[in-house]
Amino acid sequence: MARYTGPVCRLCRRQGEKLFLKGERCFTPKCAIERRNYPPGSHISRRRRISEWGIQLKEKQKARFIYSVMERQMRLHFAKAQRRPGATGENLLQILETRLDNVVFRLGFADSRRQSRQLVRHGHLMVNGHKTDIPSFIVKAGDTISWTQRGIKTEFYKVRIKEVQGKAVPEWLSLDQQAMEGRVLNLPQRADMERKIEDRLIVEFYSR
Ligand code: SF4
Repeated sequence: MARYTGPVCRLCRRQGEKLFLKGERCFTPKCAIERRNYPPGSHISRRRRISEWGIQLKEKQKARFIYSVMERQMRLHFAKAQRRPGATGENLLQILETRLDNVVFRLGFADSRRQSRQLVRHGHLMVNGHKTDIPSFIVKAGDTISWTQRGIKTEFYKVRIKEVQGKAVPEWLSLDQQAMEGRVLNLPQRADMERKIEDRLIVEFYSR
């Protein structure tokens, strides 16, 4: 399945809730959910009974949209989560949270995960001093994330270095705001991850 390249606000409207896919705009009255909180393509809100499978599918799609992950990649992450010890749902969220594109977003190097994915793909970031252009790269505790020389020379970097000043990062990460270098202190726990995702429903969806 190809990557969705249409308007991301439609995804929020389809889900019926804010997924915060557009950075700053999501916090303004311009947000499509604030203005048109009904599914795209319909002007009348239709109340349909949604099956158990439909609820699980919706939750899985929500996680995919939030982390900007394609179905094939999601299944690979799920298979990996099953192989890890512990609760599969929590493992899955931990894998999604430790993807390089997500960590770059969490560090404040980008406004949205889509933008951070692009930064990574364009080779602007390094992990432990090595250029890494794979958005699905999974970081480990102790890894450092910094900018390549090419990335530092961009106009975008000059904007970001101002934007990150004074901004907080999640407790499992640390950020040297002057050097624009992030560090993974430890792996995120459930409380550090997206709370609005019910991982149990995703496990049920893939376990059918
Ligand atoms: Fe979703 Fe953000 Fe668009 Fe609002 S502005 S609909 S939260 S992507």
